Amino acid sequence: MRAWLLDDTTGIDALRLGEVPEPEPGPGDVRVRLRMAGLNHLDVWVTQGLPKPKSLPHILGGDGAGVIDALGEGITNWALGDEVIINPSVSCGTCQFCTNDEMVFCSQFTILGERLPGTLTESIVVPASNVFRRPPSLSWDVAGTFGLAASTAYRMLDRAGLQAGESVLVVGIGGGVSSAAALIAKAIDARVFVTSRDPAKVDWALTHGAEAGFDSGTEFAKAVKEATGRGANVVVENVGEATWAQSFRSLAPGGRMVICGATAGNKVELSLPVLWFKQLEIIGSTMANRSQFAAALDLVSSGRVPVPIDRIFGFGQVPEAFRRLKSGKQMGKVGISFA
Ligand SMILES: [Zn+2]
Repeated sequence: MRAWLLDDTTGIDALRLGEVPEPEPGPGDVRVRLRMAGLNHLDVWVTQGLPKPKSLPHILGGDGAGVIDALGEGITNWALGDEVIINPSVSCGTCQFCTNDEMVFCSQFTILGERLPGTLTESIVVPASNVFRRPPSLSWDVAGTFGLAASTAYRMLDRAGLQAGESVLVVGIGGGVSSAAALIAKAIDARVFVTSRDPAKVDWALTHGAEAGFDSGTEFAKAVKEATGRGANVVVENVGEATWAQSFRSLAPGGRMVICGATAGNKVELSLPVLWFKQLEIIGSTMANRSQFAAALDLVSSGRVPVPIDRIFGFGQVPEAFRRLKSGKQMGKVGISFA
């Protein structure tokens, strides 16, 4: 079968289309013939060795959807021809965390395309617990691209305990997780505020239910306080150093800051008196548990959370798709069609 192979970790130019043996499902696994795969910024990081794949050449890609074409031993709840969505979070499946719907804490937790071979291939073998039935109403474009970003955003808001009527500030609205967070927050009737350096992305958020948007490069905390009254109850952060001070100042008393990344710097300064006097919480979050993936799928398939698609590329155009993602110009998901 054909797969996109990363030969080394020097960047996007290390990708080539090659031939690899088709994988056979082991006990408890299913093989999925892909119809659509989705790219995330994680895939761009991995081309640069962040983190380093287990072995090279490596197949990238976390998101995907397709048709089951082989069943491993012991699989009785799936049939050949079933149309499925792949959950990119993989864990051991047997430890106390995995059996308690806390797979993100499993010592073997990983992501397809990160350390394990991913979805930029004609066929992939995954544990059967990693596939969800594709609702007929859900297009392949969305089914194959929404998963990683929407489930990560869902878990962030879940961990922050965002409630209807509360205000949430999503910092750096252009990213896949950030835009999903804004759309999920809107679906649960929170008041949504955003920041971006790109006025077009702020405009996008305003047409998708945000009340107001601010320039990430300015001292936006004051504007957030004016717009919300007391500040944001929840701040969704994945920018890091460049916006941290303003994001932190934007929190209302009792506010929660939830963080899933730091695209613009890892090190930040923290004012401890502000933390305790305002009784703030700082929460880290990454990926999602199985039930949270299912909840994100429900929100998307019911139409309550739209999934903006930036562009779908052909399987032969994977390097162009990576360049689109790396440019930061996209607004929505970048997909790879196998049709
Ligand atoms: Zn486990």
